[in-house]
Amino acid sequence: MEPSYKVVEEKTGRYLPVIYPEELPFWEGARKHEIILQRCNSCAKSWYPIGPACPHCFSMSFKWDRMSGRGTLHNYVVFHKPWTKWFESKVPYAVVQIQLEEGPRLTTNFLDCAVKDIKIGMPVEAVFEDITSDITLVQFRPGKK
Ligand SMILES: [Zn+2]
Repeated sequence: MEPSYKVVEEKTGRYLPVIYPEELPFWEGARKHEIILQRCNSCAKSWYPIGPACPHCFSMSFKWDRMSGRGTLHNYVVFHKPWTKWFESKVPYAVVQIQLEEGPRLTTNFLDCAVKDIKIGMPVEAVFEDITSDITLVQFRPGKK
């Protein structure tokens, strides 16, 4: 897959992530509906955002490893203002920070849950939204305990 620098989905005007070459394993995993993150070959911890060295022990030796897709809701904010036209029908919506069982925290959208029902610490599970042939978004929704 070639890196994608397209940032707006033509049909809806929705902004899309820019994919950098060093992130390709993550995005290829997302297209297969898996969360693939770096895991350190020295201390075995995983991390996000993607980077060249383990933030726990600074080793630069790592592999790409599949995460469970389960975690807890660590924190969130609620947006009431639509900053682009695409969000006009979405407000109010939450942007959440998820702590995966494996440790890394991802900042994502939260689906299938009214803002008033969001609770810090609630169990969550990954959900994958295929946007284009290149881009599948990793998002989360309430999960089972
Ligand atoms: Zn490490």
